[in-house]
Amino acid sequence: MKAREIPFFNYPALFEHRRDLYLDKVTDVLQRGAYIMQQDLEDFESNLAKFTGSSHAIGVADGTMALLMSLKAAGITHDDEVIVPAHTFIASAAAIHHVGATPILVDCGYDHLIDAESIEKALTNKTKAIMPVQLNGRVVNMDPILEIAKKENLLIIEDSCQSLGASYKGVQAGTFGIAGTFSFFPAKTLGCFGDGGAIITSDDNLAKKLKMLRDHGRDPLDGKSKVFGFNGRLDNLHAAILDLKLNFYDEDIARRREIATLYQTSLGHISQLILPPAPDSQPDHFDVFQNYEIQADNRDQLKEYLYDQGIGTILQWGGYTINDFNDLGDWDSLPNTEALASRFLMLPMHPLLTNEDIEYICKHIANFYKI
Ligand SMILES: *Cc1c(COP(=O)(O)O)cnc(C)c1O
Repeated sequence: MKAREIPFFNYPALFEHRRDLYLDKVTDVLQRGAYIMQQDLEDFESNLAKFTGSSHAIGVADGTMALLMSLKAAGITHDDEVIVPAHTFIASAAAIHHVGATPILVDCGYDHLIDAESIEKALTNKTKAIMPVQLNGRVVNMDPILEIAKKENLLIIEDSCQSLGASYKGVQAGTFGIAGTFSFFPAKTLGCFGDGGAIITSDDNLAKKLKMLRDHGRDPLDGKSKVFGFNGRLDNLHAAILDLKLNFYDEDIARRREIATLYQTSLGHISQLILPPAPDSQPDHFDVFQNYEIQADNRDQLKEYLYDQGIGTILQWGGYTINDFNDLGDWDSLPNTEALASRFLMLPMHPLLTNEDIEYICKHIANFYKI
């Protein structure tokens, strides 16, 4: 018998936590028969735009669609190259591929995020855009990246799917370039009960194109298809639930940041680990801790040891970085990414973890290293 069971993530508990609110909302939407492109979607889009400080938010089917349509609307096409870090979800690179462009993989820095020097080395005369991936709820130091983009006349299209509400020098994730993308996959910081996504932009023309692209190319004004589009819409029911959840978002993020502080306090002295920067330890960054991704010596043994104590941990994307997928390209070697991939591990991180849960996890990590 284990003293505690702490699953990596806990969907049923997160539902129970606000059960009545969710069920009332679902009943309300279903009673109105409001399924596709209805008021709840408009309300959520307007609240999301306000929350992120951008002019437009466009609800879409999922984060992958958000990336694909952003690239397409921004005019990325055949023969273009887009620079993207290798430590990301395959969707970032797949979206680039599906508009006919080539993903160029680059290395990451100490923070697990895209490395500016590596971007510089990857530039060619075909480079059209940089896709910084704001991983784990943190925005990369954008200054050198913005500088490169300006100098080389490149678009920035952010994969901010993991970083809603995070900021760098007061600027929110998703607002650094022409478009930013979000995912509402259930385990994301703002998760719905299925797939969902959004794009934010302050470019009126891009917003107009995106609204057409997500709805079969139809212009909302006259219903005429003016481009070949997709069925890439966000369901109204999901939008209604997301709009409800957005009210609690700051509270949920505050709890994630508390948990990160507890991890820091209990694990900070263990020399076999590298932890993410603690909340408020770097004034330029406001991190929302989508994940708590550490680096650990003897990572695989630690993972197994924690599993035996009832503690669920995960290797992000199964432990693969995109340069591992030999069937998809002939990738260059990326030393930091390769080193990271043998050491990264995600500890449980969601708002309903108790302080006792975190103590239990940290105690067993210390036991593993005999500290
Ligand atoms: C979640 C995620 C996406 C999009 O995922 P969907 O499942 O399509 O919503 C894209 N990029 C990153 C980095 C992600 O974490």
